[in-house]
Amino acid sequence: MKSLITNGTVVNADGSAVADVLVDGEKVMAVGRGLAGSALAAGVETTFDATGKYVIPGAIDVHTHMELPFGGTFAKDTFESGTRAAAFGGTTTIIDFAVQSQGKSLREGLDAWHAKAQGNATTDYGFHMIMSDVNDATLAEMDQLVAEGVTDFKLFTAYPGVFYSDDGAIFRAMQQTAQNGGLIMMHAENGMAIDVVAAQAVAEGKTDPYYHGVVRYPVFEGEATNRVIRLAEAAGVPVYIVHLSARDALQMVREARDRGAMAFAETCPQYLFLSLDDMANGFNGAKFVCSPPLRPADHQVDLWHGLVKDDLQVVSTDHCPFDFETQKQLGVGDFRKIPNGLPGVEDRVDLLHDGGVVGGRITKERWVDIVSAAPARMFGLAGVKGVVAPGADADLVIYDPARRHTISARTHHMDVDYSCYEGRSVTGGSDIVMSRGRVIVENGNWKGEKGWGRFLRRKTAREHLV
Ligand SMILES: [Zn+2]
Repeated sequence: MKSLITNGTVVNADGSAVADVLVDGEKVMAVGRGLAGSALAAGVETTFDATGKYVIPGAIDVHTHMELPFGGTFAKDTFESGTRAAAFGGTTTIIDFAVQSQGKSLREGLDAWHAKAQGNATTDYGFHMIMSDVNDATLAEMDQLVAEGVTDFKLFTAYPGVFYSDDGAIFRAMQQTAQNGGLIMMHAENGMAIDVVAAQAVAEGKTDPYYHGVVRYPVFEGEATNRVIRLAEAAGVPVYIVHLSARDALQMVREARDRGAMAFAETCPQYLFLSLDDMANGFNGAKFVCSPPLRPADHQVDLWHGLVKDDLQVVSTDHCPFDFETQKQLGVGDFRKIPNGLPGVEDRVDLLHDGGVVGGRITKERWVDIVSAAPARMFGLAGVKGVVAPGADADLVIYDPARRHTISARTHHMDVDYSCYEGRSVTGGSDIVMSRGRVIVENGNWKGEKGWGRFLRRKTAREHLV
C-alpha cells in the first residue's frame, strides 16, 4: 500500500526543502518534487496535502519510564497509554529503561520489560538496561544484551541503597562496555552527599517538596558529572549524561568535549521551561519533584546555549508520571518519599518547537536534530529512524508550525491527573502521525493499535560515534 504526502516542507537535521514524500508499505520510497502523477506513485491510495506544513521524521524519546517501580508505587503510563500519548505529540519511537533489580540478573529485568511492552506498545520501542549490581555474572551478561540490540547501560551515582553504584562498580561496567562497543549512560548526582543534606533539612523541619529542589545542589551534579566523564576517559568508553539540569554539569561536559572526550549529554524540557520557583507552592510543588531537581531559572539560558553549541545533543523527557492526588501524596511530611518523576512524553516536540524555533533560539533543522535525528545517531537507529529519506522507516509527522493550542491535563493523553505545563499556550502541533507507514494519529483522532509497535534491535555506539 502506497501513500503520498505532497507539497510539505521536508525538514531534516541537515536541511529543508519543499518536496513530496512517497511511502510504500512501511518505508519511505522516494522524496522529491513532482512525485504526484509520476510512474513511481502509481497505485497511491491515500494523498495528504501538506502545503504550508512541515514533514518531519517521527520524534524519538530516548528516556522514558513506563510502569517504573519507584518508592512503593509504579509510574502510571503503560506501554500502551504512554506510546499513544507520545504519538499524539509527534513521538513515534521511545527507548525505555529496563531495570535490573538488586540480586537479580539482567536477563530477568530485560524479560520483564519485554513482557510489559510486547503486544502493548503502539509505536516502535527499544530498551536501555539499568544496572543495579555490577559483578562477574552481570558483566558477562552485558555482552549478550549488546548482541540482542540492547546496547546501552545506565548506572547511577545517586539513590544509595537502590540504584547507586560506587566508582569501582561504574568503572568495571565502563571497561566491559569499552570492549563490547556499547554506551554508558550516567545519572550523575552525588547521592551520598545529597542524602546528608536532605537528612539535615528534614531534621530542621524543612519537609516541603521545595526542599527536594534545594538539597540536591547543582555542584553535586557538576562533581558527579566530571567524575564519571573522567572514569569513562580512563576506560576508553563513550559516556552519555542523562537529564543534565545544571550549568555546573554542562560546564564539565563542555570542557570534556573541548579536550576530545567521548562525552555526550541530554537535557529535558522541564529544565528548559520550569524552575525551582515552580516547587515553592506548598505541597503542590510535589508535581514538580524529579531528580535532578528543577533549578533556579538562571540555569535555563546556559542549557539553551548548550543546545545551540552542541554540548547538549539531545532533549528527552525522562517521562515518569505519578498521579498528584494519590501517588505524590506518599511524600506529605517528607519530601524524600515523593515518587520522583514528571509526565512529559506528549509535550516535548511542541514545547521545543514553541520555545526553540518560534522563540528564535534554534532553527527548525536543529529542532529536528535534537528531538529525532541525534537520538537516532546516538542510539544505533541511524538510517532507520530520525530521517525523512528513501529506505528509512515511514515514521513521519505532518507538523503544523502555526497551530496554537493550550497544554492541559484535561486534554492530554498521558494517564496522569496533572500537567506540569497546565495552561501554557504553544505554537505548533502534529496533524498526521505515521508509524511505519500507518496513520496512527489524524487531526487529533487515534487511529493506532495496541501491539503495533515492534522492538528495535539497535546497533552499538561504536558503529556511529567512534
Ligand atoms: Zn530517568
